[in-house]
Amino acid sequence: MRLGGIGFSPPGPGTLPVPAPPPVLNLAFMHPAIPRLLDLQTVDHHIAALRADLESFPKRIREADLKLGGARAALAAAKEAHVKGQKERKKFELDVEQWKERARKYRDQSGAVKTNEAYKALQHEIANAEGEMAKAEDRQLEIMMAGEDVERRVKNAEINLKSAEQSVAIERKDIETQQGAKKKELDAALAERERALAPIPEDLRILYDRIAKRHNGTALALARDGQCRGCGMRVLPHIIQLLVQDTNDEEVYRCESCGLILYSLEPVIAHNLDAAGGNAASVSTT
Ligand SMILES: [Zn+2]
Repeated sequence: MRLGGIGFSPPGPGTLPVPAPPPVLNLAFMHPAIPRLLDLQTVDHHIAALRADLESFPKRIREADLKLGGARAALAAAKEAHVKGQKERKKFELDVEQWKERARKYRDQSGAVKTNEAYKALQHEIANAEGEMAKAEDRQLEIMMAGEDVERRVKNAEINLKSAEQSVAIERKDIETQQGAKKKELDAALAERERALAPIPEDLRILYDRIAKRHNGTALALARDGQCRGCGMRVLPHIIQLLVQDTNDEEVYRCESCGLILYSLEPVIAHNLDAAGGNAASVSTT
């Protein structure tokens, strides 16, 4: 019997080592439903991976949107500082006006005073009002200068927010495109599952679903070197024998420890050795 894909020739000079071919199912030596169940399991693993991927998308979109939060807060703070600066500026403008007005009043009065003392007192008041006016003017100037900084801050924050919005929009679109592609992939995988399911007898479907549900989506395990590769426990030799009997199309065998449906690839090697007349058939089934 010729088995596709498992022929082996030693690498010649100057050629790269040939990677081990994937495990080949020897269909004559297992329950006829096993390859179909394995197909189903492959599809189911793919579906589970796609669903897990899809679940991550809303979080990724939220995280992208969160990036705008910082830029928005910075702009709000800058605008608030700007409003506060404007208010302070107005207040000191009024102060300047008031002190100016007061100094003018005192000066008007000083023309009409009769005594030297009253004149001196007025001069003192004028000097005081002018001093306060100068202080308010200085403060006003400081605020005006700081206001320019604040205006720059507002402008920069606006620019930053705009560029953040643009990059987040691009990121979102990218995420949504990926999400759409994954959804399509999932639809295709679900359709593939229907096709994989069709040839499997109902009792085996039920068994498969029950086991897969308990084992995180896995229902089958390779039996190799006398061991269940699902749980690592020993598989009794007579079970191994039953697995590889070519007459076996009556029932599937399950690991006594973990309950997974067992299958074996080992007869491929033995059979191929016979078929190839001892021509080193080192087939990796890992
Ligand atoms: Zn097991």
